[in-house]
Amino acid sequence: MMKAFKDINFKGMRVLVRVDFNVPLNEKKEVTDDTRIVESLPTLRKIISDGGKLILMSHLGRPKGKVNSEMSLEPVAERLAKLLGREVIFNRELIGEQTVNEISKMNNGNVMLLENIRFYAGEEKGDIDFAKKLAALADFYVNDAFGTAHRSHASTTIVANYFPDKKTLGLLMENEVINLEKVLNSNERPYTAIIGGAKVSTKIDIIRNLIGKVDNMIIGGGMVFTFVKALGGNIGNSLFEEDKVEEARLALMEMIKCGVNIILPNDIIAADKFENNAKRQTLPSGEIPEGWMGLDIGPESIKRATHIILNSKMILWNGPMGVFEMDNFQRGTKSVAMAVASATNAGAYSAIGGGDSIAAINKYNLANMMSYISTGGGAMLEYIEGKKLPGILAMED
Ligand code: AMP
Repeated sequence: MMKAFKDINFKGMRVLVRVDFNVPLNEKKEVTDDTRIVESLPTLRKIISDGGKLILMSHLGRPKGKVNSEMSLEPVAERLAKLLGREVIFNRELIGEQTVNEISKMNNGNVMLLENIRFYAGEEKGDIDFAKKLAALADFYVNDAFGTAHRSHASTTIVANYFPDKKTLGLLMENEVINLEKVLNSNERPYTAIIGGAKVSTKIDIIRNLIGKVDNMIIGGGMVFTFVKALGGNIGNSLFEEDKVEEARLALMEMIKCGVNIILPNDIIAADKFENNAKRQTLPSGEIPEGWMGLDIGPESIKRATHIILNSKMILWNGPMGVFEMDNFQRGTKSVAMAVASATNAGAYSAIGGGDSIAAINKYNLANMMSYISTGGGAMLEYIEGKKLPGILAMED
């Protein structure tokens, strides 16, 4: 059994923590959004206040195994120092004698950030020698990078093999796992999943994994049209994945068999171009003529979805209902976001994940109104697809 982070006393230990400090920088190399750093602070503060020697590693951008000063973590060290209110030693190396030397000079409670781990090709390859060198830097390993938990890299999984009984998940990761488990194993009823976004191919596994768990399945976004096509409708020039029609049809049949209430939009807002100022008309979702494409769910569909959401006790939402980035096609997504917020306010539990759903919620200033927002895009998707994430598996001996 993995020991819980909060039950460990890190005093005097060299603690190697994998964090996700992959934050956006501007041309002046200033951190423009420090959310990810802020979110890791509870984990870091606990190690510091115990008197551990905190050694942080992260990636930033995609340097593809080569040193690239544009993607140095130095600006992140500066921001972290400000947030922690204490010195952060920035080490330009990651492994090797220099690093070992610098670490040996650390006192209890000191903090060091190592340079971008993806400057080394061994990281993404999951190289064993590279992972061993990382492991040699510390006495204890903590993984708190949920955003990369679905990748089997040297710093996220391989390194964990060299810390038998001396490893655990950080508070951020633990919180993600607790909340996602709650969502996947919920007995709260009615349970509604809202699945949208561009493509069936990236969401079909989620839909499949949720059949048998949920009462209602609201489907929106560009993937609606592959389902409509599977039912024999006309979709004009709407987004369509021909090779997924059969899978969509089978998923619909499975949902019917399991008694899932499927809410596919019956009306949609069609446009003559993929542009905000395109001509628009409301049409039945299976009667879109050539030259027109569905870019949002229609008013009747919004009404049905809202009614279902407001009566739900457990809600999982991933993916927008339409092209919400364009103001003329945002009504479906905005209405769903507002309905989820109202349901939450009335006592439902709501879990939101996936970059675009979070962007939508932020656009409408509703983030504080939701029960739980997952920080990991791809990792969250794989978790709710029912996959075991390598970053979490690696913590079990
Ligand atoms: P995803 O990353 O798969 O969740 O997809 C999100 C993207 O899907 C957003 O950028 C939306 O603009 C886009 N999207 C949603 N509905 C549609 C639609 N009906 N047609 C084309 N793109 C859409």
